[in-house]
Amino acid sequence: MARILVVEDDPALSRGVMALLKSSGHAADWARDGETAMRYASADPCSLFIVDIGLPGISGFEVIRKLRGRGCRTPILVLTARDQVSDRVQGLDLGADDYLLKPFNASELSARVRALLRREHGDPNPVISAGSLTVDRAHATAVVAGRTLQLRPREWAVLVCLVTRAGEVVSKRALLAEVYSYDDEVAPNALEVHVARLRRQLEPDGPPIRTMRGLGYLLDPS
Ligand code: CA
Repeated sequence: MARILVVEDDPALSRGVMALLKSSGHAADWARDGETAMRYASADPCSLFIVDIGLPGISGFEVIRKLRGRGCRTPILVLTARDQVSDRVQGLDLGADDYLLKPFNASELSARVRALLRREHGDPNPVISAGSLTVDRAHATAVVAGRTLQLRPREWAVLVCLVTRAGEVVSKRALLAEVYSYDDEVAPNALEVHVARLRRQLEPDGPPIRTMRGLGYLLDPS
């Protein structure tokens, strides 16, 4: 659904955030310091950065400054234990889009992530339809002709990716990048398995997912 980079040095907190993101179908990667974050950010584009301010080595402020300095426009959500107004102001002034104070509530983090990703996609409306399929990204539900689909997180991620670009061919590479993290072991036919299960869920009255040989997949809204 989206590739998210979590820049946070606290392993327990990072694990919690990553688990939350993955359960929502995102591909989450973890950088425990600013230098690693900058390396990851150069390697592959991501849809959102979640950045802690207090990091070993370069601070979260510096990470934001560097990202924006190189022209990166990806949304940045700042996590900070500091409740100083000046820190929040500095983070936002450097180009962060939103902030969350620790300790935070999991549902609030999820809601802020969803809002930033919708903005990133230039689409503030959480509900998308294609034919008889309606996908509600705010509530993570997909309904075909009154029937709610039972989807695993990665199937959900693939479906959202296809439905937001309904009628267009989405490459396998793009889908895999949205669904898996760098360190995930990906079986060679993983995507085919997700798509096969999605097709079974969409049948008989949902929009078909067409295989465009050598190109990728297309969700046909007509
Ligand atoms: Ca920290």
